[in-house]
Amino acid sequence: MLNRIDLRGSRRDPRGLLPRAQLDVSVAVERIRPVVEAVHQHGFSAIREATRRFDGVELERLRVPAEAITAAAETLDPAVRAALLEAITRARKVHADQRRTDTTTKVVDGGTVTERWVPVRRVGLYVPGGLAVYPSTVVMNVVPAQEAGVEGLVVASPPQPENGGLPDSRVLAACALLGVTEVYGVGGAQAIAMLGHGSDGVDEADRCEPVDVITGPGNIWVTAAKRLLRGVVGIDAEAGPTEIAILADETADPRHVAADLISQAEHDPLAASVLVTDSTALADAVEAELAVQVATTKHEERVRTALTGEQSGVVLVDDLEQGLAVVDAYAAEHLEIQTRDAREWAMRVRNAGAIFVGAWSPVSLGDYAAGSNHVLPTGGCARHSSGLSVQSFLRGIHVIEYDEAALRDVAGHVVALANAEDLPAHGDAVKARFAQ
Ligand code: NAD
Repeated sequence: MLNRIDLRGSRRDPRGLLPRAQLDVSVAVERIRPVVEAVHQHGFSAIREATRRFDGVELERLRVPAEAITAAAETLDPAVRAALLEAITRARKVHADQRRTDTTTKVVDGGTVTERWVPVRRVGLYVPGGLAVYPSTVVMNVVPAQEAGVEGLVVASPPQPENGGLPDSRVLAACALLGVTEVYGVGGAQAIAMLGHGSDGVDEADRCEPVDVITGPGNIWVTAAKRLLRGVVGIDAEAGPTEIAILADETADPRHVAADLISQAEHDPLAASVLVTDSTALADAVEAELAVQVATTKHEERVRTALTGEQSGVVLVDDLEQGLAVVDAYAAEHLEIQTRDAREWAMRVRNAGAIFVGAWSPVSLGDYAAGSNHVLPTGGCARHSSGLSVQSFLRGIHVIEYDEAALRDVAGHVVALANAEDLPAHGDAVKARFAQ
C-alpha cells in the first residue's frame, strides 16, 4: 500500500528523495488569493459568497449567538465533557510552566536592560471543521493564549450544515468550558482573512474586529491563507495537513506501527504517514497489518488515499544512524521513535514538531490528552518553527534604562560605530547630552 523508497547504500542528501505532497502550500496560495482579497475588500458579502461555495451554507450572521454556546455546553455528552476537562487540566499544567518571567540584566553600574514578556491584545484561534471537527483544538489554542494572559480571544470554526449553519456543537461546548464567548461560524481561507483584516457583519454586534495574531491548524487552504496574512498579523506556524513519521527497528510492534500510521491518515487525504526503518521484516509486517486494519477503519477511503499518496511511504535505511538523518531531513510534525533505546535516539533528533518516545506514547495521546500541544508545524517547517505554546502569544520587549554616568562611559563607542556606519547624527544625539 505504501510507496517504498530504498535509501540503503545511498550516501546522497535524503531531502529531495523523501515522500512529499505535490500540491504544496505555495500552489494553494495562488488559488486562494482571490478569496482573501475579496474578504479584505468586501467583508461580509465576500465571506457569505465563499461560505456558500466551500461550505454549502447560507450564512445569516458571522457571530455565534451566546445562547447557542451555552446550549451546546448544556447538551454535551458527559463522557466528552469529562475528557475535555481532563485535557484542559493537563494542557494547563504544561503550558503554565512555559510562561517566561521578565528578566533585568545589569549591563554596567547605572545601565540595565529588562526583557518584558507582554501578551498580544487580541488573537484569532482557528478550529478546523471540514472533514472532521476538532473540539480538542479549542483546548490546544485557548489554553496557551489564556496562560499567556491574552485578553481578547476569538474563535473561528466552519459552519456545519447539520448544526443549522453554526460550528459543531462540541466545538461550541469546548469554547463554553474555557469561557470563550466571541465565536464566529466561518471556516477556511475566508475565516483567516476575516480574522486578519476584520469584517463588517449584518449589524454592529456582528462585526469582527481584526486580531493581532492568528493561530491554529487547518487544511491546505487554511494554511495557504495564513501564509498570505503573515505580516498583516502574526502567524504561529504553518500547521497544515497532518504528518506522522515513525522511526522504528525490528523491536517495534507492527500492529501498533500500522495503527499509528492509519490514525494520522484519517485526518485528510493529504495527510502523510511515513515509516523509516532498517528492518525489511518490520516493513513487510506493517504492510500486512495495514492491509487488515485499513479494510475495517471507519474512514477507509480517506485513509487509503492518504497512505497510497505520494506524500506517504516506507523509507528503508541501512541503520538507525541513517534513519536519524532521514527523519531530521523530513522534519515531521509528529515523530514517533519505536526502537531499542528510544529515549536516547529521541534526544538526538534535531527537527520535529513533537517527538513521541517508545511503545506507550502514541501520537493519538498527544492529539488529545498528554498535556502537550497538538498545533504543530508541517511541511518541513519544524526545521525552523515550534508548535503552539504560551510563547506564541507573547512579545519580548526590551526596556533600556541608562543613567548619565553610564551613557557617558559608553558614548565614545556609540560615536565610533555611528561614524563607521556614516550615520553621524546618531553620534551627535549622544554628544548633545554632554555639550557644555
Ligand atoms: P478545515 O477547517 O481546515 O477546512 C475546512 C474549510 O476549508 C471549509 O470551511 C471550507 O471553507 C474550506 N475549503 C474546503 N474545500 C476548499 C477548496 N476546494 N477551496 C478553498 N477552500 C476550501 O477542516 P478540515 O478540512 O477537516 O482539515 C483539518 C486539517 O487540519 C487537516 O488537514 C488536519 O490534518 C489538520 N490538522 C493539523 C494539525 C496540525 O497541528 N498540523 C492539527 C489538527 C489538524
